[in-house]
Amino acid sequence: MSKPIVRFAPSPTGHIHIGNTRVALLNALYARREGGTFILRFDDTDLARSKQEYADSIETDLRWLGIPPDAIVRQSERFALYDAAAERLKASGRLYACYETPEELEFRRKRQLARGLPPIYDRAALKLTDEERKTLHEEGRKPHWRFRLDHVNVAWDDLVRGHCHVDCGSLSDPVLVREDGTYLYTLPSVVDDIDLKITHVIRGEDHVTNTAVQIQIFEALGAPLPTFAHHSLLITASGEGLSKRLGHLSVKGLRDAGLEPQAVASLAVLVGSAEAVRPVADLDELAGLIDFSHISRAPAKFDESELDHLNARLIHEMPYEAVRARLSDIDADLGESFWNAVRGNLTKVRDVVEWARVVRGPVTPVIEDKAFIAAAMDVLPPAPWDATTWKAWTEAVKAKTGVKGKALFMPLRLALTGLEHGPELGALLPLIGPERAKTRLSGQAA
Ligand code: GLU
Repeated sequence: MSKPIVRFAPSPTGHIHIGNTRVALLNALYARREGGTFILRFDDTDLARSKQEYADSIETDLRWLGIPPDAIVRQSERFALYDAAAERLKASGRLYACYETPEELEFRRKRQLARGLPPIYDRAALKLTDEERKTLHEEGRKPHWRFRLDHVNVAWDDLVRGHCHVDCGSLSDPVLVREDGTYLYTLPSVVDDIDLKITHVIRGEDHVTNTAVQIQIFEALGAPLPTFAHHSLLITASGEGLSKRLGHLSVKGLRDAGLEPQAVASLAVLVGSAEAVRPVADLDELAGLIDFSHISRAPAKFDESELDHLNARLIHEMPYEAVRARLSDIDADLGESFWNAVRGNLTKVRDVVEWARVVRGPVTPVIEDKAFIAAAMDVLPPAPWDATTWKAWTEAVKAKTGVKGKALFMPLRLALTGLEHGPELGALLPLIGPERAKTRLSGQAA
């Protein structure tokens, strides 16, 4: 089989959100797994609403997710191709001029509904005589262009949904070109899919009806059909669909919130699949888990708070190498033993700052029983300290004072860190070191 060529085709009219990452990842990871090509196609035919700023942010988001595209195309640079295809469809009688105003269409729609008829475009424009058309032109009316659908049942085998069919007899002929000559999404998408030799159109199930129409356009242009896969869409725990309005669920918002890309990717890919939602640190492994035939058909409900859990679980297992660069941005000497000591207490990597402070200071010690702490200080083991120091010390304190368990550990923790909770002191103590430990145990901030 030839290698797949897939595309992710956002309109750069806003920041993409976690739902869009599901489409992007399913495409990119499928291509990665099969040795194929992943194209980022900007659907920017709407020149007024499309913004370079959003296109840039989408590229940044894909790179952050670890799925930079192999190629980028912009529909705004490809109008000549769409014009040529439109001309061909006009010549073959599949694209026809219509002159109705929105008010006229609305009036007819209401009349159809009142009569209990489906509100489908009645193809009145096909019946216009040349004379009538001429008059309309003279009145200054400009046509919009509709695609004449074959009133047949269009069927395809969908990788996710299995055998699908749509009765095109129940659809209005879609407008492909507006009165001002601009294109709606439907035709340019097909023209690009043909031109770029897209093998698999992987997209949300909100496009199922479009697919029936677009299959007819592929056929009208004499092109072979790609394979289709329509996956379920993400919805929030309260059942809300995602939109560009939900800013905090934008990829940028998630990144700014300190989430790891793998946490976002794991959720976006695994929710609503046969696999348990779990953190998968490696994108190749995640790619291996994609199975189109096991994506559920019901909307995929996810709970935002799950992202924090996934993130924490990822970080708890994260090797030092994976964070080394970021740690050195925070503090040049936060080494491997520091990371291993604190990662289990983190939800976000950036929270290391708090533990770096606990190690390096300043810490204001909390001491209630001065005599106990003084006794403990007397038996502090000599330097150098290592992973065994804490155990040796606490055994010596116990032998000296007779105190044990929480009554022993908690006052030491409070004196050394100023906090009731935190990473294991066995790992923290050598990082804090004898000098700072002594200062804190004597009640001074350090
Ligand atoms: N721009 C379309 C969208 O974002 C692309 C749909 C498609 O993949 O064909 O919904």
